[in-house]
Amino acid sequence: MNCLVCVKQVPDTDKITIDPVRHTLIREGVSSILNPYDGYALETALRLKEQCGGAVIVLSMGPPQAKEVLEKCLAVGADGAYLVSGKAFGGADTLATSYTLSAAAAALSRRLSLSFDLILCGKQAMDGDTAQVGPSLAQQMQLPQVTNVRELQPDGESLLIHRQTTQGEEVLRCALPALVTVSATPYALRMPTVRGKLQARKKEIPILDETCMDVDLDRCGLRGSPTRVIQTATKSVQGCCTWLSDSPQGSAAQQLAQLLTRLGAAEKGV
Ligand code: FAD
Repeated sequence: MNCLVCVKQVPDTDKITIDPVRHTLIREGVSSILNPYDGYALETALRLKEQCGGAVIVLSMGPPQAKEVLEKCLAVGADGAYLVSGKAFGGADTLATSYTLSAAAAALSRRLSLSFDLILCGKQAMDGDTAQVGPSLAQQMQLPQVTNVRELQPDGESLLIHRQTTQGEEVLRCALPALVTVSATPYALRMPTVRGKLQARKKEIPILDETCMDVDLDRCGLRGSPTRVIQTATKSVQGCCTWLSDSPQGSAAQQLAQLLTRLGAAEKGV
């Protein structure tokens, strides 16, 4: 089974700050990581490869430094890694991102002479956080999609998929080729071995620009993005802690019930 895993490099979340004028993330001096859900997606693909064979190819769109996360993906067992990068792709919103990724996926299919049976994305990215790229990419590639996947197993020509919902879990059978967006799976991304790290350093990570893909540049980057972030605000969170214990005023449970009733009433403005 040939898998294409879309991964995004995101800033380490504890350190996110937003430029108040340009409404963009301040990336200078901030360390970057592989988007955690993309780690789950990659681990899912590597497990499928162990069960069914095939190749795991990793694709990212971003600035040249996004190669760092791609090298990590190679170190844990991805067979190839590609980065879409260039001025034409900067400032993309989710629509332009998914369009460009779909063009890159088609270019990779041609370049590697293979067809992808499964496209895997993370459920959402920790910086943009829209959870739109996976579903939009499925639409661009005209593939069936299953979102919020916790686990999947190959089942003949299809996949048996466990999908998380607010009510519990759905089990679905999905024909291939398809796209899934992966949430937190029961297994974390494996650690790289020293050998894996050394091999990854030697592997080339080709950059894909507009000359390598069949793309309409009017649909890429800022030019192809109908959405703009016009305002951002940082929410200040004030912590407050109340210790409760059994006392002459009542048991801790009774006091908690009273406190929650009071807070609920205050929130409703009663
Ligand atoms: P999501 O849709 O949350 O990502 C889901 C999955 O798609 C990821 O786990 C990954 O598997 C894949 N994926 C996403 N991006 C890439 C990539 N570059 N390369 C490879 N795989 C990828 N854009 C909008 O259209 N509307 C907005 O309201 C918006 N608000 C933003 C707010 C902030 C603060 C920031 C920093 C960005 C915002 N963006 C917005 C831009 C957004 O970062 C880009 O569109 C981004 O490339 C994809 O959106 P996302 O991060 O929400 O991804």
